[in-house]
Amino acid sequence: MTRTILVTGGGTGIGKAVAAKFAASDAVVHITGRRKDVLVATAAELGSSVRPLVCDSTDPEQVVASLAELDGPIDVLVNNAGGNADFDLPERDGLAGVLARWRANLDANLISAVLTTTAVESRLSEGGSVIHIGSIAADQGAGSYGAAKAGLASWNVDLARRLGAHGITTNVVAPGYIRETEFFRDKLPAERAEQLVDATCTGRAGIPVDIAETVYFLASAGARHITGQTLGVNGGAHPSR
Ligand code: NDP
Repeated sequence: MTRTILVTGGGTGIGKAVAAKFAASDAVVHITGRRKDVLVATAAELGSSVRPLVCDSTDPEQVVASLAELDGPIDVLVNNAGGNADFDLPERDGLAGVLARWRANLDANLISAVLTTTAVESRLSEGGSVIHIGSIAADQGAGSYGAAKAGLASWNVDLARRLGAHGITTNVVAPGYIRETEFFRDKLPAERAEQLVDATCTGRAGIPVDIAETVYFLASAGARHITGQTLGVNGGAHPSR
């Protein structure tokens, strides 16, 4: 049976690896993001079963409009879109700066998942799956970014009750440090990257495919009794380091 998969932020990094993993099985994969050129290039690279869909997941109108372009039920939703405004926003003084940072992180990492899931909910297949990409930062006291990812994990528990009645599972995959994504590109000093690797038990940084494999398992029949959980995929890294 050909499954229909929706991966937000699927043009790069972890989302791209998730799209590639599902595309290699019998699935049609819709990838979203704000940059059309990136999505089109990724779809061309991954093959004809991957379809680009321009959408800012923080904008309710765009979420609804983009979903109207998809036919039929959706078997797997991967809420992967996100980022850390602490890296991306310019410094601003005062409460206006604080508010901008909090709003950006909550919008990108929590509200985007709430909007997309709510819009898709009535179209999720019986026995389908929702997987959110959280972060080890949820347990690190990592400011507004960590708070947004912690909120995602909390909301996931509530969602599990609601979706469980329809045989749908929902889980959070919480990566530790994953290299080869745009998330940290040119933003992480080499010394800090070394510290993050040292904090793992495995002595290696994760790569996007590590997360894709976990997402793929959580969307399989073998994971049908797993729901409302947050699963750390971090090489055993302890949040306090
Ligand atoms: P990337 O920056 O490569 O991927 C983020 C993707 O999300 C981009 O493709 C971006 O595309 C998209 N995106 C961002 N904001 C929006 C939006 N508002 N609407 C639609 N798409 C959006 O980094 P990663 O692959 O690392 O990040 C994926 C997820 O993993 C994020 O949620 C991140 O918080 C999480 N994570 C990453 C870790 C790491 O070490 N890399 C560690 C822990 C968690 P575009 O800009 O075109 O919209």
